[in-house]
Amino acid sequence: MKALLLTFALLGLLIAGCGPAVPADAEIPVTPAVAPLAASVEFTPVPSATATSTVVPAIPATVTPIPTASATPSPIPTATPTATETPIPSPTAEPLRPCDQRIPDDGLLPIITQKFAMSRDFAPSDLVKLSDALPNRVTLGYPSEIREMVLPPLAEMIAAMESAGLKPFIISAYRSYAAQSIAWNKWLQREPDRAAILSAPPGHSEHQLGTTVDFGSPELPGIVGEEDIQFHTYFYMTSESRWLEENAHLYGFTLSYPRDSFELTGFYYEPWHYRYVGVDLATQLKDTGQFLTANQFETQPPPCIP
Ligand SMILES: [Zn+2]
Repeated sequence: MKALLLTFALLGLLIAGCGPAVPADAEIPVTPAVAPLAASVEFTPVPSATATSTVVPAIPATVTPIPTASATPSPIPTATPTATETPIPSPTAEPLRPCDQRIPDDGLLPIITQKFAMSRDFAPSDLVKLSDALPNRVTLGYPSEIREMVLPPLAEMIAAMESAGLKPFIISAYRSYAAQSIAWNKWLQREPDRAAILSAPPGHSEHQLGTTVDFGSPELPGIVGEEDIQFHTYFYMTSESRWLEENAHLYGFTLSYPRDSFELTGFYYEPWHYRYVGVDLATQLKDTGQFLTANQFETQPPPCIP
């Protein structure tokens, strides 16, 4: 497990919030800085567990204060008066916790955005290896993990894509809080002013839920004109992306961060980032054109105090 953390951490270096964030309206995004990392990370399996144990624990401590939280201190007081005045609907309702103490439920629909995070202590309990159901050409040999319930539909979807002549692969799936911390710290060091745009602070990535996958396409380097590129907004032009846009909902997956979702999600367009939400909701979202976070805010109360 710890060996995995480091591997994901390395992956996290290039995929930060999941990938380079690029303004949604920018048709020609600037993401080349990511490519060199991809080369070094992609084929570094890092088998040594010893290295991991020294690296991982050190990181979260530095990261704990999530900077975005300080911007909105106001919503806290309002929770208290409501509780005293409303005696009825509170049998199951627990008081809202600060987001850094939040443990999401086991369901598929916890809200995770740049505003609403989860605890560093949260990790899914039912992670399985992608390699249990997917071949090396799809996992790239990475020791990626995902929640158990997601693996069968994912494998089914990949099989359908391959039957259609496509060659999808999976660059990232579950990422631990520690792995995300390492990625976030790297961005803070490199571009402190833009870290919040380029990356997700630890606790704010859907990858920590274990239900989210980043896809890759062998067509991307040719389209972008960079041999080592793994993540680029131009992914939307690949055959794999076009297929996913049309069909992913049939397998329960939805694109988390479409164009113009920034205001609610805090993330720019990430055409490679799909989250499993089940066929019913994914189909509803596909049919209505609504994106997941917008639907969640309509159907769920705020999950925590940012
Ligand atoms: Zn992602």
